[in-house]
Amino acid sequence: MDVPFWNREIETADRSRLETIQLERLRETLSWALKTPFYQKQLRQAKISSADDIRSLADLRKIPFTTKDDLRLNFPRGLLAVDMKDVVRIHSSSGTTGIPTVIYYSKEDINNWADLMARSIFATGASSADVFQNMMTYGMFTGGLGMHYGAERVGMAVIPIGGGNTKRQIKTMKDFRTTVVHVTPSYLLHVHTKLEEFDIKREELALKKAFTGAEPHSEDVRKKIEQLWNIDAYNSYGLSELNGPGVAFECVYKNDMHLWEDGYIVEIIDPDTGEPVRDGDSGEVVLTNLIRRATPMLRYRTRDLAYLHTDPCPCGRTHRRLSRIMGRTDDMLIINGINLFPSQIEEVVMRIPEVATNYIIQVEKRGDLDHLTVKVEIYPKLFLGDPSQLEALKGRITEELRSAIILHPSVELHEPNSLPVSEGKAKRVIDLRPKE
Ligand code: ADP
Ligand code: ZN
Repeated sequence: MDVPFWNREIETADRSRLETIQLERLRETLSWALKTPFYQKQLRQAKISSADDIRSLADLRKIPFTTKDDLRLNFPRGLLAVDMKDVVRIHSSSGTTGIPTVIYYSKEDINNWADLMARSIFATGASSADVFQNMMTYGMFTGGLGMHYGAERVGMAVIPIGGGNTKRQIKTMKDFRTTVVHVTPSYLLHVHTKLEEFDIKREELALKKAFTGAEPHSEDVRKKIEQLWNIDAYNSYGLSELNGPGVAFECVYKNDMHLWEDGYIVEIIDPDTGEPVRDGDSGEVVLTNLIRRATPMLRYRTRDLAYLHTDPCPCGRTHRRLSRIMGRTDDMLIINGINLFPSQIEEVVMRIPEVATNYIIQVEKRGDLDHLTVKVEIYPKLFLGDPSQLEALKGRITEELRSAIILHPSVELHEPNSLPVSEGKAKRVIDLRPKE
């Protein structure tokens, strides 16, 4: 396979070279961090007063974790390490679940981020020959401008269409002969269900690749996207606290995501104890940003659960690969005492060929017990056939779920496009239980 490199030297650097870069950048980052009120206090408590306290990568563990709450409590300037005149961009979370978090970027920070983004895009084989439609929301969400800058750096023809307005998305794909899109997997599946309604055939479009990210999705969802659209879909991982997209990205081998280790230090920890897990085991992803000055970020607890591959990738890149995100520690549902991640349900339902492109998980109280309902959309032709076949399908889905998740859910079959769909991150879980 032809393996494209944006920066071959750094992408294939051996471990010791990568670790040398990491240590040097960690020490620099620490000195910037010490300029912020938050880290001054946090590091002083850990008895770290200068970069000299970090002499090896093993010393990273002396540094306390940073959490989303730390960012919230120190809103808006507690983690700002440079003068406001040196800030060129601000991104922030929407703040729907509380005080927003804010990230500042200097000119150099944006430049470094765009470079990692360009490297990520290039690793998939996309190039300046491509027409790129960025279907992620622009504005404060990093999936818009973050990806945009990387795509321009690669030299792609960038269409900054933003999220939503499905009809316009499809028409734009057709008019400009879009070859690559950046989109949430759930929305890309939804757009496919609308082609017929807008009277556009797949063959009229030039689409070849999708960068899918911003929400958890299983391998079966990737397969579904690839089959329905007849394209290659590449998983893309990032979060605003660590810049945004471009933290980890799949290469042409689509064998999980290279995490750019000259830009970030990754640790996988046990979320309960904070201790590192064994090599290859899954746990919470903790990331240190090595390439951002305006808002330094040390040992950030992402709450995302994943593992690192320990075997090399055939592409020759030495940066380790991060698995699919299995869920977020705060996504976990507890149903009648049993722990359940929405991804466990997705894995079952998306494997069933009759299931179309959308599903919803609903939890409610019935008496003293929690009750789980899984609503799935199925292909329309099934509703025209023998009703007993629908019953049999429902029974089969219930049985497969039961054996995978132990719980006994009710299953509802719905027509395509009847369940709520989001143009950004999918909202799969409706929890109607009273809050304690
Ligand atoms: P938030 O969702 O916390 O407001 P962001 O908009 O920065 O913050 O989104 C980052 C989060 O989105 C990640 O922490 C992760 O949970 C999720 N995410 C991003 N990319 C992926 C991906 N490829 N697979 C699964 N989850 C992802
Ligand atoms: Zn690779």
